[in-house]
Amino acid sequence: MNKTFVTSLFSVLVFIILLLPQCKSSKESGEIIEIGNGKISLAFEKATGKFIAFNDIANSHEFINQEVVKGLPWEVRFDSPSNNQSQANETIPSKFRYSKPDSLTIILEWEGFKEMKGFKVKAKINLDEEKALSYWKIFVDGIKGNPIRGVVFPKIEGITESGEEKLVIPGWMGELMHNPRVALSAGQIKRMEWVYPGALSSQIFALYDSNLCGFYASCNDSLSYTKNFAFTLDTMNTLEYEMINYPSFDPALDSYTPSYEAVIGSFKGDWITAAEMYREWAVKQRWATESRFRNGIIPSWLENTALWVWNRGKSGNVLKPAVELKNKLGLPISVFWHWWHNNSYDEFLPEYIPPREGKKSFTNAVLSAQREGVRSIVYMNAIQWGESTESWKAENAIPFSLKDINGNMNSHIYNIFTGNSLTVMCMGTQFWRDKYSSLCDSVVNVYKTNGVYMDQACLSYKCFDRSHGHSAGGGNYWVEGFGKLTDQIRSKVSKETEPIFPGEGSGESWIPYLDAFLTLQPSRERYAGVGNSETIPLFQAIYHQYGITYGSYSSLVTPPYDEKWPKEYAPENTEQLLDEAFNKQFLMEQARSFVWGCQPTIANYHSFLNYERKVEIDYLLNIARLRYKALKYLLKGEFCRNPGIEPPVENIKISRLSIYAGRTPGENVKTFNKDVPVLYAGTWKADDNNIGIALASISDNYISVDFNFNSAEYNLPSEGEVYIITNEGKELLNSYTGGSISVKYSMQPRGLCILEIVPSV
Ligand SMILES: [Zn+2]
Repeated sequence: MNKTFVTSLFSVLVFIILLLPQCKSSKESGEIIEIGNGKISLAFEKATGKFIAFNDIANSHEFINQEVVKGLPWEVRFDSPSNNQSQANETIPSKFRYSKPDSLTIILEWEGFKEMKGFKVKAKINLDEEKALSYWKIFVDGIKGNPIRGVVFPKIEGITESGEEKLVIPGWMGELMHNPRVALSAGQIKRMEWVYPGALSSQIFALYDSNLCGFYASCNDSLSYTKNFAFTLDTMNTLEYEMINYPSFDPALDSYTPSYEAVIGSFKGDWITAAEMYREWAVKQRWATESRFRNGIIPSWLENTALWVWNRGKSGNVLKPAVELKNKLGLPISVFWHWWHNNSYDEFLPEYIPPREGKKSFTNAVLSAQREGVRSIVYMNAIQWGESTESWKAENAIPFSLKDINGNMNSHIYNIFTGNSLTVMCMGTQFWRDKYSSLCDSVVNVYKTNGVYMDQACLSYKCFDRSHGHSAGGGNYWVEGFGKLTDQIRSKVSKETEPIFPGEGSGESWIPYLDAFLTLQPSRERYAGVGNSETIPLFQAIYHQYGITYGSYSSLVTPPYDEKWPKEYAPENTEQLLDEAFNKQFLMEQARSFVWGCQPTIANYHSFLNYERKVEIDYLLNIARLRYKALKYLLKGEFCRNPGIEPPVENIKISRLSIYAGRTPGENVKTFNKDVPVLYAGTWKADDNNIGIALASISDNYISVDFNFNSAEYNLPSEGEVYIITNEGKELLNSYTGGSISVKYSMQPRGLCILEIVPSV
C-alpha cells in the first residue's frame, strides 16, 4: 500500500481558543523583548508575548510580518464536551509576564484565564550559543478535568514570502515542493498537515530560496512521541507554522510538558544544507547507535543483494524469472514477493496462509530458489485486519483494534475492485503482536522464506482505547510496540534461513527495528503523476549509513491483476509490454535509485524483456554490476553534495500506472510529459575518506562532463588521484595538486561510471 502521503487533514474541536485582541505592535525597543546570539534574534511583544520578529542577522532577513500576527505563539486545544465548534470561547489571559534569566533565554508566562482558574502556560525559548538555532519548550499547568486534544507549540504566524520558495517535506524518502504558497492557495483547505513518526520519516522542515534565506523548523525528540507538523496559508499570503504536540488524553492529567523542544532556525543554502543541520543532531541519537545495519547485525545476504526482483503471484511467475535473471547477471538477486498468499490482495488480511499455490509447491519452490542462490521475502501487512474475514469474528479482533477519540475503529477500503475494508489494529496491544509474530513464525519456520516485508510498517497512529494499557491518544507507545513486535518475531523465528524484516516507507524511529526500508519514491511518477513536488533523497542524506533502502515500481510492463480479484474488472493486458515511449522513464527511475544509494529493484520482471526491452534490461544489469564495485560508497557511504555538474535536460514521456492507479474501471493510463535531467549524479564519502561520484546518463547521445571543485569542499587533502570506474575496469583519469580537482569526461549514451577521488595519504 502506498496511500499515506495524502495529507492527513485535521478537524479540531476547540473549546478554548486563545486569541488576543488586536494589539498594536511596535518595533520600539520599549515595547518588545528581544534575545539574540549574533546569528539570529527573536522578539516578542512586551505586553502580550506575541512572537513578532525573527531576524537572520547576517543576511538581514526578517521572516515575520508582525502586522499579520494575531495570536500567541501557542494554542491549547481542549476537548469540547458538546463536540460543537460553535461553542468555542475566546479567552484572554489577564496576566502576562516575562523574564530573561540570561542573554540567550527568555521565559514567557501567561495566567489568569477567565474560563479556567489555575490554568497557566509557560514558554521557555533559548538560543543556541553558536548556531542560528533556537529551542522552544512549553509547560502547561492546571488542566485537571479538561483533557487536551493538542498543544500547538510553537505556532509561528506571519511567515512572509521569500523569493522562489521551496519546501522540504520529510515524507518517507523526502519531497521538495516548489512554490508551496501557490499549491496551498489552489486548494480548498489552505493547510497541509502531517503525522510524525510515520508519514514523516524525520523531523525537519525547511522553507527557502537558496539565493535568500531559509526558515528551518525541527524538533529534538529522539523518543518518537507522536506529533503533527502543519503549514497554513492565510489571506495575506503569509504562512503559519505549527508543531502540534499530544499529551495523554486523560482528565486526571494536571500538567503537561513535552520531553523535547521544538527547534526553529535560519539558514542560507538549499535542502542539503538543511539536511546537514539536522543530520548533525540526528546521527547522535539512539536510533543511529542502535541501527541494525550500522551495527552489522543484519544477515550479510541483504547487504550483498545486487538487485531485487519484485514480482507477484505463484512461484512460477516470481522465483523462476528471478533465478533466470540471477544467472544472467552473475550477482546475487533477492525476491520481494507479493500475492503469494491465500487471500486476495488488500482484502481478507491477515489470512495469508497457506500460500495460494499450496504448501508443498510453495515450499519446494522457495527451497529450490535458495539452492540457486535466490532468497525471497514475502509481503504481510503489519497493521491491518479485514472486517469481512472469518477470523475477525472468530478471534475477536475488535477489542484490539485502533480506536479514535470517539471510540470508532479506523477502517478503509484499499481494494477498489471489491470494496471490502481493512481495519487498523493497535500496535500497543500484545494481542496484535502475538497474532502478527505467529504469522511470521509460520512463513519463516514452516514455509522456509527468508523473511517478511512488513507493509505499512513506518506509520503511527494515536489510539484512545483505554483497555489497551497504553496512554490514551498522545505518547510513544506505537513505536515502542513496534520494537516489541520485531523483538518477539526475531525471538521466535529460526535462524536457518537468515530471515530479514524490512518494512514499507522509511523512518528514523524504525532504524533499530527494520533491516531495510522500502522507498518507492524514485518511481514517484508511477503513482503520483507529475506535479509541483519532486523526490529528493532526504532520508539517504541524513541516514544512508544507518539504513538500507530499496524498492521501486520501476517496470517495463503493465501492472499485474490479482487472480483472486473479481474477474469482471480484470484487464486483458496484464504484465504485457508497456509502450516503448515510457522506456526512458524506466531508465530515469533506475538512474535515480543508483545515484541515490538505494538497492536497485525491477518490478514485474519477465525473461521476454531480455530481448523485447534489451537496452533497458542491460542498463539495469549494468547499474547492478557497477554499483557492486562501489558498495563502500553506494551501500555504506555518507551522502555528500554533488560538485557543480550541470545536467542536460530532455522532455520525456511519463506514465502513471500501478496496480490501482489507471486500473479503475473506465480509467486509462495517464500520460504526462516532463523535463528531466538526462544525467544523474550522487556523491558519497566512504569510511576511508575516499569520495565516489556515481554518474548515470539516460541520454541517447554523448554527454560531455566537465566540472571542477576544491578538495577542501569534501575535507580532503590537497593532493590525490581521480579514477574512473566502469564495468570495463578502473583507470586513472588524472592526478590533482593544490586542492584543485578537475574532471573532463565524455559519457557514452546511457553511460555509467563512478568517479573516485583518492587523496594521497
Ligand atoms: Zn491502542
